[in-house]
This record gives sequence, structure tokens and C-alpha cells, in this order.
Amino acid sequence: MAIVLEDVSKTYEVKGRKVEALKRLSLTVEEGEIFGIIGFSGAGKSTLLRLINLLEQPSSGSVSVNGTELGALSGEKLRTKRKKIGMIFQQFNLIESKTVYQNIEFVLKASKYEKKEVKSRIEELLALVGLSDKADSYPGNLSGGQKQRVGIARALANHPEVLLCDEATSALDPDTTKTILKLLKKINRELGITIVLITHEMEVIKEIADRVGVMTAGEIVEESDVYSIFSHP
Ligand code: ADP
Ligand code: ADP
Repeated sequence: MAIVLEDVSKTYEVKGRKVEALKRLSLTVEEGEIFGIIGFSGAGKSTLLRLINLLEQPSSGSVSVNGTELGALSGEKLRTKRKKIGMIFQQFNLIESKTVYQNIEFVLKASKYEKKEVKSRIEELLALVGLSDKADSYPGNLSGGQKQRVGIARALANHPEVLLCDEATSALDPDTTKTILKLLKKINRELGITIVLITHEMEVIKEIADRVGVMTAGEIVEESDVYSIFSHP
């Protein structure tokens, strides 16, 4: 099992008022699958991803990735685990003042790669996402789809166990969305990387997910394989 959330709650305090973003949520994502989470804005989808990405801690409950409980990690072990969880974003989050090459190099530099290895790893990643000819381009000169390809290359740089996608195609037109989803599917099938994606777009789920969780007000109210969820009368 790649990702296990057990009885996870997350409460924020906003101006003295408590907001329950997640309510005793439990979820298991199997290794190698593409799991989609769909829900309206405010349902708690991003909060869920931030807990898996170790950006935040749950108020209660536990989150495990590939058998390691994240709450038990700190220091060097926490940093090492974070590198094994890749993430891509709706607005790509590229550094505009760095080239495509440097955006990926930046992530690898934080790891213990030799200089020569860094170059060959970046070339390998750019070939994987089909951007070998854009290494020296700046994000400002790329299309949205190309920017997301860089985001994907960066997220894969450290050989992650899991790839988290936060509305990764929501800023893209339908055709570009299709090509990015195709690339994600290839990464899942060929590299065996487990993917969790959150989206408000039904089409994205239909196109790519093996299983889907429907999220409302901090809870997963329905969970099933994609075929059965779309064959409801
Ligand atoms: P979604 O991604 O489905 O739109 P979110 O996880 O962003 O949902 O938000 C779930 C709920 O938690 C919302 O009510 C939101 O306002 C609240 N929330 C999310 N992040 C924070 C935060 N950092 N501080 C306070 N409230 C937050
Ligand atoms: P900071 O300390 O400023 O948050 P990070 O080193 O965490 O910087 O992130 C640097 C850049 O990499 C940011 O643009 C961020 O959005 C992106 N990033 C952070 N974590 C990941 C990840 N797991 N996968 C892909 N990109 C990431």
C-alpha cells in the first residue's frame, strides 16, 4: 500500500473560529495506481495533499507513505522522505529567473548528486517529458503545457515513490490537458510511480484515474473504481 491515511482530522483556526478541513478521513491508495480525488472548492482536497507531501501535520490521525508513518519523522529522515514525494501544481511553480535546466538542477543540487550525474539526469528527465530542445529556455518563453512538463521533470528528479498532482491541468486548454494526462499515465505505467491527483474536473478523472474518491466537506463520501462511479443511472 503506497499511501494510508487513518482517521485523519485537520482543523484550522481562522479568527478564533475552528474550520474542520478534514474530518476523520481514512483512505488507502495502492502502490502503482492512479487515484483521483474530486470535489468542489473548499472540500479539503489541497489540505489532504499537503498532509501527504509533509507540508503540514494532521491535527489527529496518521499518514503513511510506503510503510513509513510520516509523523514519526524529523530532521534528515524527514528531508529524505520529502524528496521521495514529488508534486506538480496548477500554476507550475517554476522559478522564472532560471532556465528549464536550472529549475531541475535546483532540486537535484539539494540532493547528493555528482556534477556529472546531475547533467545526465536532467537530460534523461527532459527526454522523458519531450523537452530536450528547451533546456536553455526560460519559463516565460514556454507554453502552459511545456511549463507543466518542466514541472513534471522537476517532480521526478529524485525518483519519487509518489507523484501528487494539485489541479495540474486546470490552467491548460482541453487538448494540452489530454497530452499532459497521457504523459502522467506513461510515467505511472512505465516507471511504476503511484499518482494521486486532485481536481474539480470530471473529465480528468475519467481520462486517467483507476479509482476515485469523491470529497465533500472534509470527508470522502464515495470511493470506487472509475467505471462504476460513472455508470450510475
Ligand atoms: P480544496 O482544495 O478542496 O478547495 P482546501 O483543502 O483548500 O479545499 O480547504 C478546505 C477548508 O479548509 C476550507 O474551508 C478552507 O478555507 C480551509 N483551509 C485550508 N487551508 C487553510 C489554512 N491554511 N488556514 C485556514 N483555513 C484553511
Ligand atoms: P521553499 O523552501 O522556498 O518552500 P522548496 O525547496 O520547498 O522551497 O521548493 C522550491 C521550489 O520547488 C518551489 O517552487 C516549490 O514549489 C517546488 N517544490 C517544492 N516541493 C516540491 C516537490 N515535492 N516536487 C516538486 N516541486 C516541489
